[in-house]
Amino acid sequence: MSAPSSSYRIAPDGFYGRFGGAYVSEVLRPAIAELQACYREVIESEAFQSEFQTLLRDYVGRPSPLYHARRLSERYGARIYLKREDLNHTGAHKINNAIGQILLARTLGKTRIIAETGAGQHGVATATACALMGMPCVIYMGAVDVERQHVNVERMKMLGADVRPVQSGSRTLQDAVDTAIADWAAHPADTFYIIGSAVGPHPYPDLVARLQSVISKEVKAQLKAKEGRDYPDYLLACIGGGSNASGSIYHYLGTLGVRIVLGEAGGQGVESGRTAATINIGSAGILHGSRTLVMQDAEGRVIEPYSISAGLDYPGIGPLFAHLADTGRATVLPITDDEALHAAFELTRLEGIIPALESSHALALLPRCSFKSDDVVVLTVSGRGDKDIETYLKHKSRFTDV
Ligand SMILES: *Cc1c(COP(=O)(O)O)cnc(C)c1O
Repeated sequence: MSAPSSSYRIAPDGFYGRFGGAYVSEVLRPAIAELQACYREVIESEAFQSEFQTLLRDYVGRPSPLYHARRLSERYGARIYLKREDLNHTGAHKINNAIGQILLARTLGKTRIIAETGAGQHGVATATACALMGMPCVIYMGAVDVERQHVNVERMKMLGADVRPVQSGSRTLQDAVDTAIADWAAHPADTFYIIGSAVGPHPYPDLVARLQSVISKEVKAQLKAKEGRDYPDYLLACIGGGSNASGSIYHYLGTLGVRIVLGEAGGQGVESGRTAATINIGSAGILHGSRTLVMQDAEGRVIEPYSISAGLDYPGIGPLFAHLADTGRATVLPITDDEALHAAFELTRLEGIIPALESSHALALLPRCSFKSDDVVVLTVSGRGDKDIETYLKHKSRFTDV
């Protein structure tokens, strides 16, 4: 393949190939148009960059280390580096994006922040950024998720967020997104909607990718220092909506020698009916403001997704990834719950790092790749596993000999 790098970048109309765009209701068109018109200029400005970079360094704790995992490397026969987003403040990559978007909101003169959350990770990152900036914050969360993710709910409240349980529909993430969009439509003048993944109407997927692109920017410098060249042979990441993956691959999209392999949530298996493997079983449709791959039935009704990992439990995918899968630039493999659990126990025992269940879907790609011994592999550990300890405990007896 010899496509130029620009073919993987967003086109001026907000599309990646046949995916993307901004499908929003009439009332939101002016707000979306305002964002589209100014987001690049704002985030590329010196004032924005200087404040963003300072906060990433002193508040988030960046650069996150690029760690050469020796024992893991020995097991898989390659030079494996872990990009340690798990060491960020609040325990995952989501804080990079939340801080970037709140700075953008402030620049645009918005005074009120809203967000939605499923597992609570994006809600916690947003509530954290709002506390930091002294801005009021409303977090919509399905009532079922409020029950399931009690600790994150308490965290958001302690940070000062107004957490509103959503009682409509299946009372999960889907319904929380719809309610957040309705709130935004009712208050477009003063409210900024912080979206937590590389999804939603244009410009969100590109905005999120650019804010998360600090990950691959750091990897380039870190690899240069450690390996004498600034690119790996393989990039591995997990993919829910695609924010940590988009940041991990951003600066390598046009470097076709860098193989991109992504793990999506296979759940109990792509044929089981209990899965969130959107790229493997989805078809083109419109979800949450963009044209992308969607898990849907023949009538276009969204199929309820399932994954052991709450952060990957989403029936859509960022439009960039629908395009990368379409063009063959990325290989996206479904990883089952059990493969992810196995990988989590393996990393814990080999390296003393307990990964988030989401990140375990990236680690489970290692046995699926056939590396050469001098291959350089960079794998993004998107978050830490503290939040998943109960799930790990429940399954630990099946993985005693990992
Ligand atoms: C939310 C989350 C993900 C999935 O979201 P992406 O937008 O695909 O990155 C992955 N890992 C962790 C730790 C998360 O919290």
